[in-house]
Order: sequence, then C-alpha cells, then structure tokens
Amino acid sequence: SPVPDYLQEVLDGLVDDRSGAVADYIPDLANANPDVFGVAVTTVDGRTHSAGDDEVEFSIQSISKPFAYAAALTDRGFDAVLGTVGVEPSGEAFNELSLEGDSRRPKNPMINAGAIATHYLLSRSGASVTERVDRALEFFSELADRTLSIDESVCRSELETADRNLSIAHMLRNYGVIDSPAHDVVEGYTRQCSIKVTVRDLAVMGATLANAGVHPVTGRRVVATEVARQTLAVMTGCGMYDAAGHWLTTVGIPAKSGVAGGLLGSLPGQLGIGVVSPRLDVHGNSVRGVRMFQRMSADMGMHLMDAE
Ligand code: GLN
Repeated sequence: SPVPDYLQEVLDGLVDDRSGAVADYIPDLANANPDVFGVAVTTVDGRTHSAGDDEVEFSIQSISKPFAYAAALTDRGFDAVLGTVGVEPSGEAFNELSLEGDSRRPKNPMINAGAIATHYLLSRSGASVTERVDRALEFFSELADRTLSIDESVCRSELETADRNLSIAHMLRNYGVIDSPAHDVVEGYTRQCSIKVTVRDLAVMGATLANAGVHPVTGRRVVATEVARQTLAVMTGCGMYDAAGHWLTTVGIPAKSGVAGGLLGSLPGQLGIGVVSPRLDVHGNSVRGVRMFQRMSADMGMHLMDAE
C-alpha cells in the first residue's frame, strides 16, 4: 500500500544521517541503540500505518508533558491549571530554572518547571506520588489503547542524577507553586517521563488530540474539545523549546519532543505522527525526527499556515 511505502522511503532517505548524539545526562539513555528509527501515522478515522522500528519501546520523556497537561486540565479545570502554569513560549532550554516575573508561575507546561508543576496537579489536591503516577499511567494507557508500563531502569538512573529537576522543584516550592516535598514531585514526574511507548502508541495518542479528544480507534471521548485545543495550542507555541519558532516556520505542526529521541506531531482534524531516532540536536530534539517532519510536512502539505 502506498502509505507504508512512502514512510519507508522517508526513513531510507535519512538513515545515513548519524549526526547528533544520544542524551547522556540520564546515564541509562546513553545505553540506547542510537540506530533505532521508526515512524507511525494514525489518521483521525483510526487507521495506523508504520515503517521501520515501529514496535521498539522507548521512554516517553518530555512527550509526556502535553498529555499530563491534558489530564491536569481534565482533573482540576482550566482556572486551577492556568493559575499555576502559564502558556507563554519561553524561548529557553527545556531545563531552565525560570519563572514568569510577576506571577511566579512557570512560563509554560512544556518546559520542566511547568511540567513538574503540572504533574503536581494530577488527580486531585493533596494526591500521593502513587496517585499522580497512576493517573498518568491510566490516562496514557487509555490514549494508547493498551496497558503501558514504566521503564524502571531509566527511571532509577534519572532519579540518581536529578539535581537539576530537584532544584527546579525546590524553586517551585519556595514560591508556593507546589506544596509537596520537592523529592516526591520529582519522583512522580520522573516516573511519568519513564513510561514506555512505541511510535504506534504516539501516533494514536496524537491522533486523539487531533480528533478533538475523541479516540479514533475506540471512539471514546478521552478529553473535552477545549482540553484538546488548549493542549495543541500550547504544543504549537512551546513544544520544541528554544527551537519552537524554527519548527513552526519549517514544519508547522503542533509537536513535542523527548530526550529519548521520540517526536510526536498532531495535526488538527487530520492525524497523529510518532517518530523515534535517539540522536539529538543541541536543543534536545531528535535530528532525524526533525528532518522527517520537515520532509513529510512538505510532501503532504501539512503546514498549519498553508491556506490550501
Ligand atoms: N525526564 C527528562 C527531564 O526531566 C525529560 C526531558 C526531555 O525529554 N526533554 O529532564
């Protein structure tokens, strides 16, 4: 069929590109096979096509952030979430220790400061670490339409070297953004980031956001229309960190990257895309993943700003 052939052709065109480097600030990620390369596309009518390493599991990492944001909006409502985390692109690196000047809120939920605060909001006020992590696991599993699990080795490895995220959490606690011990919130956030997915999972998860919150395969409404829209809007402005502007001009698809090499795209009304290739550029985005999206966006006319 033409779609898998096309996807394979795009992979073949980029397979010789070995530029970039796997993340090593999380020691266990440095052990990942750098040559893993896969892609999947799910349309809003529920068909998935894939090529390459489409069954290989990797940790979701920062691609968990938009989904945790959607869960927090669902659990706590817009007022509570927007009062805690802003929606402004930061133009900063993902792990910047920064807050908005006046409000002392993290600038957006896609950088670590905002994502740690968003994780804290999961489930209910006063939730335990287990309740928050279970909420993320249950929600991501519903989106993926299978039972997901945590990569304990990646999680342990990240927690052993989590000083940066612990500093962020202490800063959040100092300003009253979170009200649980910093270590507990970072542990829960790190477990959320260690949930294992495949590119096929990412594609169907992204297709649910693209389909206004209705799961394209199960037909269930997973999130409200306004939650799907809010999540896609924040991904558009902030999903690619300090490369968000370059991404928006050259690709034009709401997206989120993760340091394990995953990349999620979600084109409203059309489809979800998942890509994995672990070598990263200086922004922490997958090198081949970014190039794949540039090529697919051009070939299929997927840029959001194209009038036709
Ligand atoms: N768990 C990673 C961290 O908090 C996620 C970062 C990422 O994927 N960009 O550092």
